[in-house]
Amino acid sequence: MCLFCDIIEGKIPSTKVYEDDKVFCFNDINPAAPVHVLVVPKKHFDDIRDIASAEDGAEYLGAVAGAVDKIAELKGLGKGFRVINNCGEDGGQTVMHVHFHVVGGVKLGEKIL
Ligand code: AMP
Ligand code: ZN
Repeated sequence: MCLFCDIIEGKIPSTKVYEDDKVFCFNDINPAAPVHVLVVPKKHFDDIRDIASAEDGAEYLGAVAGAVDKIAELKGLGKGFRVINNCGEDGGQTVMHVHFHVVGGVKLGEKIL
């Protein structure tokens, strides 16, 4: 069982922001900023390393970039935003289906790099 696979399949409800044939994007249930959208490939990959080693990984990463651009437009993030991917245990990943956080809608503070 994978939480995000269930969300993509509509078995668990979510607030959809954008969808195409390769990605599903929905509001994070515990938002860290006024805009906090998760961009999730429709195919299950555990994390970004898993995408890198897949034959069709580049297609999915391209779709992720396209979705980020679309979300920025839909949510009025013209002044900027952050895209965050937590990878693996040390990276603080809690849902083991790769996803990218799009965070914005406010002047973002605290940076670690
Ligand atoms: P990460 O810690 O990078 O793996 O991110 C997982 C994210 O999934 C967290 O920001 C959670 O708030 C979010 N999340 C967990 N369950 C749900 C859910 N049912 N719907 C939307 N977002 C969720
Ligand atoms: Zn999954």
